[in-house]
Amino acid sequence: MKLYYSDHYTLPLPSNHRFPMDKYGLVRSSLISQKIVTPEELIPATPLSLETIALAHDESYIQALINQTLPEARRREIGFPLSERLVLRSRSSAGGFLEACQTALQLGLAGNLSGGTHHAHRDRGEGFCVFNDFAIASFWLMKYRALKKILILDLDVHQGNGNSSIMGQTPGIDIISFHGKNNYPYRKVASSLDVEFNDFTEDSEYLHRLTNVISGLATDYQIILYQAGVDALKEDTLGKLSLSMEGLRKRDELVFGFAKSHHIPVAVALGGGYSKPIDLTVRAHVQTFMVASDLFYKKPPS
Ligand SMILES: [Zn+2]
Repeated sequence: MKLYYSDHYTLPLPSNHRFPMDKYGLVRSSLISQKIVTPEELIPATPLSLETIALAHDESYIQALINQTLPEARRREIGFPLSERLVLRSRSSAGGFLEACQTALQLGLAGNLSGGTHHAHRDRGEGFCVFNDFAIASFWLMKYRALKKILILDLDVHQGNGNSSIMGQTPGIDIISFHGKNNYPYRKVASSLDVEFNDFTEDSEYLHRLTNVISGLATDYQIILYQAGVDALKEDTLGKLSLSMEGLRKRDELVFGFAKSHHIPVAVALGGGYSKPIDLTVRAHVQTFMVASDLFYKKPPS
């Protein structure tokens, strides 16, 4: 399983910053120590060209980031201090996802150990998201791989408002978002299908609804872009739902099982996860790749 990473572009944050930047390196090292991937299968992501980013973003927004002239209010919406390093890291993260999509088309499965930056809009970033990796990748796949039917399955606990604002009206892209009804973003942008949950929703209800949605899906998608955020975990500090680690495992089995059984390539992005301490989030992210690897690569016992 090839996985792309961007944690070599570290982003120094103030010590009181609530974003868990450390999780990316921890997920990568844990995947190796648990032998879910070999070091050779982990590939440093290549930063995207500005031309590719412009498939999904306004030129004026891209230039304001590059020239560090983004207005203060817009910087605050992103939630990270604006720096050349942030822009480079964001280009790398989106690049890793595009590479994962291309690899998934060849091999059936690939992942990006960051990203799922579904809150970024065409003309602005927000919620720790600078560039919208799923929108860039979707438009690229349509333009350069002639794909005509893409499924975005967004199971991060926060609604993918940026995905819907950029791609919601694009024929050939279906967007499904499962998220907390009372959670950020408070102004949601309609997806093809929005499944909302009340606070403290547990495994049984969540998995029941996911099973129903998946069983009704078309089976002729040419790729699934899976935002596998683990912030629906009950210990998550920004999640508000009450899923267990086992519930997340079953969630991932449903998604990868569907993709595998219908031979649909799947590209996975890490998405959100904010447990404190960060260990449970790291375990949940690692579990996603373990489930994928077991389903796609493990030989059945003879
Ligand atoms: Zn999230």
